[in-house]
Amino acid sequence: MKIELFDTTLRDGTQGEHVTLTVDDKIRIARRLDDFGIDVIEGGWPGSNPKDKEFFERARDIEWKHAQICAFGSTRRAGLAPEDDPNLRALLEAETPTVAIFGKSWTLHARVALGVSLEENLELIASSVAYLKAHGRRVIYDAEHFFDGYQDDPAYALETLRAAAEAGADVLVLCDTNGGTLPSDIYRIVGEVRRQFDVPLGIHTHNDTGCAVANTIMAVAAGARHVQGTINGIGERCGNADLCVVIPNLQLKMGFTCVPEEKLAQLTDLSRFVNEVANLTPIDRAPYVGRSAFAHKGGVHVSAVMKDPRAYEHIPPEKVGNRRRVLVSDLSGKSNIQYKAAELGIELKEGEQARQAVQRIKELEHLGYEFQGAEASFELLLRTIQGEDTRFFTLDRLRVRTEIDEDGGVCNSEATLAIRVQDARELVVAEGNGPVDALSNALRKALRCFYPDLDQVHLSDYKVRVLNSDDGTAAAVRVLVEHRDGERRWHTVGVSTNILEASWQALADGIRYYLLKKRQGELAASAALASAQRT
Ligand SMILES: [Zn+2]
Repeated sequence: MKIELFDTTLRDGTQGEHVTLTVDDKIRIARRLDDFGIDVIEGGWPGSNPKDKEFFERARDIEWKHAQICAFGSTRRAGLAPEDDPNLRALLEAETPTVAIFGKSWTLHARVALGVSLEENLELIASSVAYLKAHGRRVIYDAEHFFDGYQDDPAYALETLRAAAEAGADVLVLCDTNGGTLPSDIYRIVGEVRRQFDVPLGIHTHNDTGCAVANTIMAVAAGARHVQGTINGIGERCGNADLCVVIPNLQLKMGFTCVPEEKLAQLTDLSRFVNEVANLTPIDRAPYVGRSAFAHKGGVHVSAVMKDPRAYEHIPPEKVGNRRRVLVSDLSGKSNIQYKAAELGIELKEGEQARQAVQRIKELEHLGYEFQGAEASFELLLRTIQGEDTRFFTLDRLRVRTEIDEDGGVCNSEATLAIRVQDARELVVAEGNGPVDALSNALRKALRCFYPDLDQVHLSDYKVRVLNSDDGTAAAVRVLVEHRDGERRWHTVGVSTNILEASWQALADGIRYYLLKKRQGELAASAALASAQRT
């Protein structure tokens, strides 16, 4: 059975803290939602701001593949005829096939927020819905605060729904606007409403009790067939129901149809795309789409998953476009290391080598190394254990000098570095914007005559974390470094009680990794050439 998906990322989602979207952003997201198979895209509230108005002007000229674009607004104001009401007029001027309007279901809100009599509130709902229907719109009626209203005065809450239904509303959406209702109540109330109306019911929940997804699912179990939510659950206060969780739950666990199966496999991409455009940090432990959703850390888990993924995975990650990750950590056993090594194309010999690798990683992690975010350092380590020479250069001597004046205005750093490459020794001095930058510049300068390609490589991110901070200045620091070369980026790690020493390790690993990849590329190319010459 098909569930109608109504996405309000662009309306309720943008009411969340830290979420701002330009009109361009909104158009990009809407195109992506359309492509994914969302049925209705709520673009904004045209009566409330010029940005949303512009969105609808631009949306009009776009050919949508599947989705209906929907404008949002409130029922008319008391004392105004529908045709004179600026909000209803803005809704029509948005020229969308579908409109969503919200009205009051709770006597408290009618009396206090609107300041109208209960009869008048019914009349506002009925006349607004009828007016939009008369203009050929599909009308989705959002019953604001429905669950609070129903628990307070069920007969009146039902009367407001009846006013909307009799005026021609196409869907009655029961909203848990304050997000305070629990799943058992949602299930009971949706069931009670279901028995009184033939009009399809919808559900709109907020996450204030951490139950937005559960509430949505219970509403569907009780008969709702229209589901509202946002991508990644962004939205006012604690957010809305997260469609990235609701959709796979309904489709993979309950047998409903939300989107075509091949579209479901784009869910993780969609989630990341919206985070990227909205400039939000992704939540690693997000169900289904988070980076950690199918990450295995414990050695027992990993060895079982390698035999049969169902042992510790509730669904195959590919179904939602995510992937399995095996983490390397002090919880790791041999299985993690072997899985990881195989992923990197390294064949660790059973027995001694694998055991040695586990031992070495555990020692390093005890010192504060963390390889989960530094896979390039991890690969260098494994290759070294395997007997490969990955040094490329060795440090002879290193000195960094930094001057800071009273205002902190001038912060000039200078690094003097002597390194050895095979039998040659190179001594250079380089400046930089801070000591790490100076060190990074000096290292590339010293190596340039041996490896001219290094000019493409640059330091793109640098993070420091203080470990065991109870020890004050003696605390060790962990430095994570990111390098890029135009097409790739890779991460390395260093740990020491001296921040420059830790930085040096991470920087040197970063350069070594680049040189290793280059050497592998050259070896592969010459092997290909040799085999081409043979044939
Ligand atoms: Zn809402």
